[in-house]
Amino acid sequence: QDLIIAIDGHSSTGKSSLSKIIAKKLGYTHIDSGAMYRAVTLFALNNGLIENQKVKVDQLVARLPEIQISFKLNSLTNKNETFLNGQNVEAQIRDLKVSSMVSPIAVIAEVREYCVALQQKMGKAKRIVMDGRDIGTTVYPNADIKFFITASAEIRAKRRFLEYQQEGKVIPLDEVLANVIERDHIDSSREHSPLRKAHDAIEVDNSNLNLEETVEHVMQILQK
Ligand code: C5P
Repeated sequence: QDLIIAIDGHSSTGKSSLSKIIAKKLGYTHIDSGAMYRAVTLFALNNGLIENQKVKVDQLVARLPEIQISFKLNSLTNKNETFLNGQNVEAQIRDLKVSSMVSPIAVIAEVREYCVALQQKMGKAKRIVMDGRDIGTTVYPNADIKFFITASAEIRAKRRFLEYQQEGKVIPLDEVLANVIERDHIDSSREHSPLRKAHDAIEVDNSNLNLEETVEHVMQILQK
């Protein structure tokens, strides 16, 4: 079967890891749409388009055509790594500097148009698992199967905290929690928020499920 599987939900619900594993199990391609917004944010940071936490929106929009984003599968890690203008930026785009500026970048209509067009182009091949916020609503409203993954903010902060720790970054848990809450707020408070559960999405709350259990749960639904 050639399917498009949309996996939306809150940040730090393990959406990306889940999508990656599901794609691997099905022999599909995993596309992390958040990585595109992160790459645009990195471009803005690297090009002086953010000053004192403020985005120079007009300048960034004017330079969007200069931004080339692509993915390449790393066969060792089985991860699709993100490239910005030919440079592997997979590690850099996960930095807290990028995480804390990505939401204000992702609200810019032109940035969304740019990323959504790229996402739609990548889905032409079908057999993809795409994760994000608006995949089931905007990018692929006709996706074959849609999931919406959620968990409590505290649990998500703890997960991100541990991720940072694994990378050798010590960031206080309350700072990580504040970032999670702030992003939830920005993502869901605006009129055309990308974070919406499609009416036909299957909701999965994994507050009390680990990654393995979440994978199992989702696979069971897919096999029905
Ligand atoms: O999924 P991830 O946490 O890496 O996404 C980073 C940010 O990109 C989100 O906080 C959100 O602001 C934005 N995003 C979006 N639409 C998507 C995916 C991500 O607005 N489809």
